[in-house]
Amino acid sequence: MTFAELHAELQKLKAQGLLRERRILESAQGAHVRVDGRDYLAFCSNDYLGLASHPALIDATCRGAAQYGVGAGASHLIVGHSEAHHKLEGALAQFLGLPKALLFSTGYMANLGIVSALAARNDVVLADKLNHASLNDAALLCRAQFLRYTHLDLKQLERALAAARGRRKLVVTDAVFSMDGDIAPVPELLALCERYDAWLILDDAHGFGVLGEAGRGVLEHFGLSDPRIIYMATLGKAAGVFGAFVAGAEPLIEALIQRARTYIYTTAFPPLLATALLASLHLFSEEGWRRGRLRELIAYFKTHLGTARWRLLPSDTPIQPLVVGDNETAVRLAEALRARGILVPAIRPPTVPKGQARLRISLSAAHSKEDVRRLCEALKDIERTL
Ligand SMILES: *Cc1c(COP(=O)(O)O)cnc(C)c1O
Repeated sequence: MTFAELHAELQKLKAQGLLRERRILESAQGAHVRVDGRDYLAFCSNDYLGLASHPALIDATCRGAAQYGVGAGASHLIVGHSEAHHKLEGALAQFLGLPKALLFSTGYMANLGIVSALAARNDVVLADKLNHASLNDAALLCRAQFLRYTHLDLKQLERALAAARGRRKLVVTDAVFSMDGDIAPVPELLALCERYDAWLILDDAHGFGVLGEAGRGVLEHFGLSDPRIIYMATLGKAAGVFGAFVAGAEPLIEALIQRARTYIYTTAFPPLLATALLASLHLFSEEGWRRGRLRELIAYFKTHLGTARWRLLPSDTPIQPLVVGDNETAVRLAEALRARGILVPAIRPPTVPKGQARLRISLSAAHSKEDVRRLCEALKDIERTL
């Protein structure tokens, strides 16, 4: 491998419209941002409740810094597990009505840690084909047999479960699919897991704080609770801060503390983030209107968009994908919006399947109806001219 080869590969990506470039964010995250020296209306972030720059969180962060300093200084098992981390774990478990919760530094690390702590060479991991990359990487890392079923195909999953009798089985799925916005049929998945004695790992990165009356995520959405469910969610999306956690039965959490390598061999995230997250969890109930606002905006967007050429995928969550097809059109559409002062990311393979490039429009309680109306008008206008 030489630099000339790397250069040629990069040129090829560029020619295919697949080269990713970073923009520089110069403001706080929110509905209106400053990027590369220009102001935009943005539909890009996962800050679904608009908490990422909430004054109460900023205040809690400063208090956390004053009390604990800035860095955790060590891993959780050495001396990095602060009182704030511990309180947050208790608060998360209580909020969800589950026995115990365990913090991880990121969702990516949580998924690697959970799956590889629970499955090994002779086990089977069964996964939806549209799962997040971190769940796929987790399955590869643990060296179990890795079977991916067609998106939401319960029949195919059942056949695979039936064929895997006698081995430890993990069914893993996004609860809300990150690029499609649809919700996994958790009750049906759970019934299959019961029938074939499998565990069900739910990655609720996009449901926690968003779904359910109280924001308890996919479990509240379906009114479910079951010791077979290993519930995981991230804290950098609706919760507005950073990090992730797993919640479930006590022996499960204890096993993860002993065995999850991404928990053991890494520095605890800064305690000031735990104090911020305690404030965020408080706002889930204190400012419950944010979920109501978000639901109104989702309904408003779906009824007002009405483009003929591109279709929205069926989604009732803040993730509203407008499927365009080829990479170039997706990029041109995103560029045309950008020229109108609106930022929406074009999502291309390998993040989504080939031929399904899309705009991933994400709505937030930080948006106003006027913001969403502006987006709809701009898309209709571009449709006429592109
Ligand atoms: C964002 C995301 C993750 C990763 O979480 P981070 O905390 O950002 O590492 C995992 N799973 C899903 C479904 C996600 O959307």
